[in-house]
Amino acid sequence: MLTIKDKTFVPFITADTIQARIQELAGQINQDYATRQPRIIIVLNGAFIFAADLIKHLTITCEITFIRVASYSATQSTGQLKQIIGLNEPVANQDLIVIEDIVDTGFTICEICDQLKAQQPASLSIATLLFKPVALRKPIDLQYVGFEIENRFVLGYGLDYDGLGRNTQDIFVLVEA
Ligand code: 5GP
Repeated sequence: MLTIKDKTFVPFITADTIQARIQELAGQINQDYATRQPRIIIVLNGAFIFAADLIKHLTITCEITFIRVASYSATQSTGQLKQIIGLNEPVANQDLIVIEDIVDTGFTICEICDQLKAQQPASLSIATLLFKPVALRKPIDLQYVGFEIENRFVLGYGLDYDGLGRNTQDIFVLVEA
């Protein structure tokens, strides 16, 4: 059990399960991009641990770029998006893989993809550790999904609650009051 501020979280996905799934995802990416040299775009802050573990298992040659968007506060998605920060290189004609921590309503990833697609990359795929299909409000194709989960607030392994709790190896879920 984990208590952060006023919230209690219980174990949800263990570190071993996460790592095993990441190896599978990396294997798929290695196959799919065997003849390409993609640019991997890591969406900070939440995806930093997932991305680090995933790319350690990639055997393809790739470039890595870090971007940020801010769209979320506390446990409710606001749906309000800000500009992509940190994309300083042009991505036209490149194969892009966007790495996200979680797709909830889908607004964040759709906004990122729209902004990237405006630069006409050769291809664009998405790898997300977690996906909440029930919460999705914008249709989106997700090529690499770690785990489909129910519509509950999760924490740990990069994901935060009010800036806290990112530093765990397991993923936890909020105990609803
Ligand atoms: P979306 O735009 O898909 O609704 O939300 C995406 C962003 O909201 C994620 O990148 C993440 O930062 C945050 N988010 C969505 N669901 C959760 C959750 O269950 N836990 C945490 N910690 N963040 C979430």
